[in-house]
Amino acid sequence: MSTNKFTRNKTAFGALLLAAGLCGASLQAQAAATIVINNLNAPGVGFNDTTPATPIGGNNGTTIGEQRLIAFTYAANIWGATLTSTQPIVINAQFSALTCTASSAVLGSAGATSIFRNFPNAPKANTWYSYALANKIADAYQGTANAAQINANFNVNLGKPDCLPGSAWYLGLDTNHGANIDFVATLLHEMGHGLGFQTFTNGQTGLQNGGFPAIWDHYLYGVTAGKLWKDMSNAERAASSLSIDKLVWTGPLVTAALPSVLRQGLPGLVVSGSSAGDAAGSYAVGEASFGAPISNTPLVGKVMPAVESNGTLSEACTPLSPANALAVKGNVALVRRGTCGFAIKAKAVQDAGAIAVLVADNVVAPISGLGGSDASVIIPAVRVTKDTGDALLAKLGKRTRTSSGVVATLALYGTQYAGADALGRALMFAPNPYQGGSSVSHFDTSASRNLLMEPAISGDLTHSLVVPQDLTFKLLQDIGW
Ligand SMILES: [Zn+2]
Repeated sequence: MSTNKFTRNKTAFGALLLAAGLCGASLQAQAAATIVINNLNAPGVGFNDTTPATPIGGNNGTTIGEQRLIAFTYAANIWGATLTSTQPIVINAQFSALTCTASSAVLGSAGATSIFRNFPNAPKANTWYSYALANKIADAYQGTANAAQINANFNVNLGKPDCLPGSAWYLGLDTNHGANIDFVATLLHEMGHGLGFQTFTNGQTGLQNGGFPAIWDHYLYGVTAGKLWKDMSNAERAASSLSIDKLVWTGPLVTAALPSVLRQGLPGLVVSGSSAGDAAGSYAVGEASFGAPISNTPLVGKVMPAVESNGTLSEACTPLSPANALAVKGNVALVRRGTCGFAIKAKAVQDAGAIAVLVADNVVAPISGLGGSDASVIIPAVRVTKDTGDALLAKLGKRTRTSSGVVATLALYGTQYAGADALGRALMFAPNPYQGGSSVSHFDTSASRNLLMEPAISGDLTHSLVVPQDLTFKLLQDIGW
């Protein structure tokens, strides 16, 4: 069945779910819905890892495996207390090898094991629902065997030298993960997919599963075609999967709750000053996942570039030259995207005394955010387009002075919500090119506050599924939970 990944940083294709087989111990988490965890790992591996562990963050397990299962039960209890269903929800879960590099990792993948349509009480005819949701709505077990409803895999290699070294699983229950990856948040995310936070339509080809839409597709709307996904042609669906900021969720509960969760006002850059000339004006910027957030309190400073000897913008991947360091000190630094991570650039100009950094794109592309993390970066960082960077540099030249007549003001502007379109509908993740396992079945990364069901994990997630912290449960309610 469909799988959906949760990543740290951006990453390529990957995750396939293994076929389910029942074995190992079961744990039960009792609440408004009962969630049963089927541990599929072999002895000594994953959830059965016997490596001794010190209790941490409210998790009193004494081995790694035991702590992982305690965290899983904790997360299952959060979901169980939120959902209602007379039918137990069985999750087949294991740690396994998932896609990994030194700089990115697939943290987990999950999906429904089966999908159903036209079951008793089905709200929409000829429409696919996840197994667990079909059971809930039908108020009876669907299918013929005693099968699990959700498959979930978690990355067994996380934190090893070739798999995001320095970022191990944090198994505490208190979100105090520091630089590590919060396992409970990852569990909540993956369970969300398995419960139905996913389409069963192929977003890359637009092909519906067996010729029928998913309940997801009744609420997913492509602004360009002006249609819901269920009413689109395959080609229209495939195009809307790549439409960046034109794929939205129209479910009424998410739309109604969105103002209680997302921040109002979008970050922007206003350029002014005696030397601004025709570069004066307002520009969209992309926010960083690190550093100080852009706020309603304007940050004002003179723009100064870090430049190479040939006059091009510096990538600022290493400590700045003395001349560049002097130029950006006390000012808003302008640097170029490329070669190294965005947080490295921000740190380099911060170390030179800059009060903020504009990272100019090195290719012509729509505005997007700046990924990465570094808790030691405390200045704001934003992305500007290549055109904006070029326009600013044209006014700044390759000066090595310490001040300029070009003034940048960074602040939040307008009434639009971060992560919503101008009509107040939640943006769904629709990058170009397509990202298998991530596109379409997540909220967009522009959401602020950060949401649990974005494609990549954010460091500031709570363990809440509900308003005002999160929109995950509202979306699941839109589809019938
Ligand atoms: Zn995901």
